[in-house]
Amino acid sequence: MPATREVVIIGSGPAGLTAAVYTARANFEPLVLEGEQTSNTDGPGGQLMLTTEVENYPGFPDGIMGPDLMKAMRDQAARFGAEIVTKRASKVDLSRRPFGVWVGDPDAAEPTYLAQTLVISTGARSLMLDLPSEQRLFAQGGGVSTCATCDGFFYKDREIAVVGGGDSAMEEANFLTKFATKVFLIHRRSGFRASKIMVDRAKRNPKIELRLDTVVEEVLGDDSITGLRLRNVTTDEVDDLAVQGLFVAIGHAPNTELFKGQLEMDDTGYLITQPGSSRTNVEGVFACGDVQDHTYRQAVTAAGTGCMAALDAERFLEATADDAPAPRTATAW
Ligand code: NDP
Repeated sequence: MPATREVVIIGSGPAGLTAAVYTARANFEPLVLEGEQTSNTDGPGGQLMLTTEVENYPGFPDGIMGPDLMKAMRDQAARFGAEIVTKRASKVDLSRRPFGVWVGDPDAAEPTYLAQTLVISTGARSLMLDLPSEQRLFAQGGGVSTCATCDGFFYKDREIAVVGGGDSAMEEANFLTKFATKVFLIHRRSGFRASKIMVDRAKRNPKIELRLDTVVEEVLGDDSITGLRLRNVTTDEVDDLAVQGLFVAIGHAPNTELFKGQLEMDDTGYLITQPGSSRTNVEGVFACGDVQDHTYRQAVTAAGTGCMAALDAERFLEATADDAPAPRTATAW
């Protein structure tokens, strides 16, 4: 049986690494499972690794590149003694404490780690159109974005497009008209999932032009986006639209597959935390960052909730220090 750790953190975006800094400074020697790269939209460091310039993280008046910010957070956590392991958790058992965390073969008889407390910061991922041209330009910072709040500022006086027909797309299109001269809102149907009030606001905005029943077939451009190849799904007509930016706003998915059936989630799979805390429905399991937040989704709010999770875990450990949980034996798994 592995030794029991006081704190295991799953996930290494701003939430997980902030929780690591705090619990490491409190001498809990946290273990961080930072994840592994399996595609160009996941891996250690989370969504900021896919971002170029970050200008809204406080403390960096000249901005900082997303990967540099994550490296600084990782170095800071390591400096105080966090053990960072470049692996993904493959299974967890939250049915009793210490919790079991598996890395590698989920069918292994014994867990790889045992944890008195677990901090879950596995984040969320933006859904994408999954076009090779979109993925390439996204990865190289060539004008494809999934976050208007983060990147809108770079599109002053440009013509750009937003894809999606939900509230996010409406909100982003409206927001982007503060910067862009024109925003094409491209949606695959003529009906909207977005609320009527948000659709009406977008329709009233003179800078927004709707392209309905329309899908993006290709994002054009080598180093940076020059346009979109669009197809009207009712007429099958194809045309190229010149734009200098594309915001994909077709929803997000939280990374919560590991916790299904063990932690309370909302209808869309986000973990539910008790208001004003990072506590989940399982005592000793805390959640922070985008995995439990579909509203704010900012690096700074993720870091803030990472701090909350660390303090909640520390208090929990202090409060339960005297009730020795029954040791788990190999046969108990
Ligand atoms: P939604 O799931 O509500 O909407 C996603 C949109 O993207 C849909 O219109 C969908 O089309 C479209 N879409 C999905 N996949 C594709 C694809 N592969 N290609 C093209 N289009 C696609 O996600 P949102 O992020 O907009 O909203 C998530 C939640 O957050 C909602 O509950 C929303 O109300 C809420 N929200 C609220 C806000 C507010 O109140 N201020 C702001 C932002 C979000 P289709 O409709 O055809 O399925």
